[in-house]
Amino acid sequence: MDSNLASLRSLTITPLEEIEQDEDVQMENSDEFDEEEEEEEEEEEVELKLGFVEKPTNPRSLLRHFFPCKAGGFPAWLDPVNLPLGKSRICGFCGELLQFVLQVYAPIDYKESTFHRTLYVFMCPSMKCLRSDQHEQWRYKQGTPSRSVKVFRCQLPRLNPYYSYIPAKLDGTDRPLSTGVPLCCWCGTWKGEKNCSSCKKARYCSEKHQAMHWNSVHKSECHKLTASDSPIANNANGIGDLTVSKNGSSKATWKEYKIVIKEEWEFESEESEGNSSSVDNSAIVTKYSKTDEAMHSVMDQFEADANNNSWALFQERISRDPEQVLRYCRDPMAKPLWPVSSGRPSKADIPPCAYCKCPLHYEFQIMSQLLYYFGVKNDPDSLDWQTIAVYTCSESCESSVSYKEEFAWVQL
Ligand SMILES: [Zn+2]
Ligand SMILES: [Zn+2]
Ligand SMILES: [Zn+2]
Ligand SMILES: [Zn+2]
Repeated sequence: MDSNLASLRSLTITPLEEIEQDEDVQMENSDEFDEEEEEEEEEEEVELKLGFVEKPTNPRSLLRHFFPCKAGGFPAWLDPVNLPLGKSRICGFCGELLQFVLQVYAPIDYKESTFHRTLYVFMCPSMKCLRSDQHEQWRYKQGTPSRSVKVFRCQLPRLNPYYSYIPAKLDGTDRPLSTGVPLCCWCGTWKGEKNCSSCKKARYCSEKHQAMHWNSVHKSECHKLTASDSPIANNANGIGDLTVSKNGSSKATWKEYKIVIKEEWEFESEESEGNSSSVDNSAIVTKYSKTDEAMHSVMDQFEADANNNSWALFQERISRDPEQVLRYCRDPMAKPLWPVSSGRPSKADIPPCAYCKCPLHYEFQIMSQLLYYFGVKNDPDSLDWQTIAVYTCSESCESSVSYKEEFAWVQL
C-alpha cells in the first residue's frame, strides 16, 4: 500500500477513534497485532474481520456522519439525497418495500472516489419470497432476475457536499454538512416522496406505509400537526433526529445494533486478556499485508474440505466466535465460508458488475446468528437463511447512480 495514502487514511481514522473517548485499540496501527500474527504459527489464518452486534451505548454514533457499521433499525444513508427509488427498493416477488438488514462501512484506501464507501443489504422479510429468490439467484444470464435480497454500494470522495473533510466529533455539536431528503414516517428507510394530504407534514415512501402509519398513530396526531407549525420529527437522515421509531414502526424495522469489527484471531486473544470490549472500530479497512501464499493454501484447503465436510468445517470455524454476524475479507482470493457445499455458486454464476462489466468479487457474508439478534421467530414460515454472501464490483466503479446494485447469494 502506498504509504502516503496509508497515512492519509490513518489521519481520518484517528479522530473517529477519539469519538469513543478512550484508549481504543487502533486495529490498523496496533503493534500488538503484528506480534499476535507472528505467534499464530500453528494455524494459517486468512486476514479476516468479524462483525459482532452490540447495543449502541450512544445512538448518535450510528448516524450517517459517523459512518457506522450497523444492523437493523434505519439505514444511515451515506448519500442522503439520491436514495434508491422505484423498483430497486421493492421485493421482486411480493412488491413490498425491502427492509434494512445491515450496512458495512468499508472504504478503499487507494482510490480517492472510495474514501467513504458503504455497502447496504436489504431484504424482504417474507420467507416465501426468499424461497422464490433461491431460483432467481442462478439466473442472471436469462435477464435481470427478480430478487428479494438486494445490496447497494455507495461511495464518496473525501471532499463531498455532505460531510466535513475532518471527521465529526461525538460531542453533541456534530452534524452533517447538509440535511438529507425527508424519509418515510413509517419505515424511516426510504425517501418520503408523498405528503399526507391532510397535514401536509407526514411523508411516506408508499401508500401502504401511509396506511399503516395512519392506523397506528397518525389518525390521532394528524390534526394536531395541521394546527402546529412544527414539522413532524421524521428525519433520521437530516440532523440526526432519532425519533422516527416512536411512531411504533418497529414492525417495519428490525432491532437496531451497532456492529463492532474485530480480527478473527483477535477475539480469542482478547478473551484471555479480558478486555474484549475495548476494540470499537466501525471502519473496515483492508490490508494486504498477509502473504498471498498462505492465503492461497488456506483457501485451497477450504475448497477441498468443503466438498467433503462443509458443515463440519463451517461449524468448527464459527465455533471459535459463535456470536459473529459478519465475516469480512475484501481480497481477490477470499471466498465465503459455505455451511453446505451444495447450492454454492460457481464463478460463472456470479454476474459481472452491472455498471462497468468488471468481475464481482466476494466481499463479506452475513451469518444466520443475526436473525437471532433480530428476534426472528423459529416458525416454519419465519425468515431463515444460513448465510448471505455479498459480491461487489472488483473496481468499486463510479457511475451516475449513487446507490449501485451489487449481488447477493443466499444459502438456505
Ligand atoms: Zn417479498
Ligand atoms: Zn416507508
Ligand atoms: Zn397527516
Ligand atoms: Zn463496476
